[in-house]
Amino acid sequence: KTPLIASPARTQAIINRYRLPIKKSLGQNFLTDINILEHIVQAADLTEKDNVIEIGPGIGALTEFLAQSAHQVMAFEIDDQLIPVLDDTLSPYENVTIVNQDILKANLPQLIKDNFDADRPLKLVANLPYYITTPILLSVLQSSMHFDNITVMMQKEVADRLVAVPGTKAYGSLSIAVQYRSIPEVAFTVPRTAFIPQPNVDSAIITMTDRADFDPAPFDEKVFFKFVKGCFMHRRKSFWNNLLSIFGKDADVKVQLTDVLEKVHVSPQIRSEKLPIETFIMLTNTLHDEGL
Ligand code: SAM
Repeated sequence: KTPLIASPARTQAIINRYRLPIKKSLGQNFLTDINILEHIVQAADLTEKDNVIEIGPGIGALTEFLAQSAHQVMAFEIDDQLIPVLDDTLSPYENVTIVNQDILKANLPQLIKDNFDADRPLKLVANLPYYITTPILLSVLQSSMHFDNITVMMQKEVADRLVAVPGTKAYGSLSIAVQYRSIPEVAFTVPRTAFIPQPNVDSAIITMTDRADFDPAPFDEKVFFKFVKGCFMHRRKSFWNNLLSIFGKDADVKVQLTDVLEKVHVSPQIRSEKLPIETFIMLTNTLHDEGL
């Protein structure tokens, strides 16, 4: 299983041969470290039974490793100029389909249904375009699709927010949105020297596995996510002041809010970053019961 694409020399040769203008605006940083690519496949626990979705194949460095380990791979690449390159670099692999679409606009559930056998495990593996890490993760996690696991590279600072626990600086609405649906873990970190061109941040691989649903559940998930986001709008303010920004400062509202906080045993002076997910769910439901 000798790789044909990754390695600093081969990557540079491909860039030169196609005179590729590397597009920073599309987050193009190509992985050149074979060891790291092997570790990504291991972290994703890939087997020949699996179907895999990849986001942003670039020149195909990771795609090649996925093709060698999995049953079928479907990779979404937005950059038209990379399509002929991928046709060439991945020509030895018959189990790869390249889809020239923006992942945020693609009808992923439909494409999976049309192209993949539903009986097989489905995994998502990607070295994400960093400028849209959050929208990609939120749209995947909040969709109806089920991935047996998700293994994605992102900038280290965002990875820290994903896995952050209550009471830490990195904990916020992104931690909650991700941990509401999954158990995220940092598999390993990746130095900027593993890429051409080098990004100006270090990276980390995150694996996400399913978690059991929260019980009680929020009465409405959209309302829950919106409420959580509101609670972290002003991080330096107390929880109480964030509540007033969301619900207004009417005397009546203040009475209702005080009532709710007493019911769920939350101090108004606390910071939102101290509150665990269960408390945000209880608050969402109790506020709704109070008519707020
Ligand atoms: N997978 C390759 C690797 O590891 O070497 C490249 C990863 S690079 C960090 C991100 C890739 O995502 C680029 O090829 C970029 O063109 C692509 N991309 C950026 N925005 C995208 C979008 N909205 N939909 C699909 N692909 C996108």
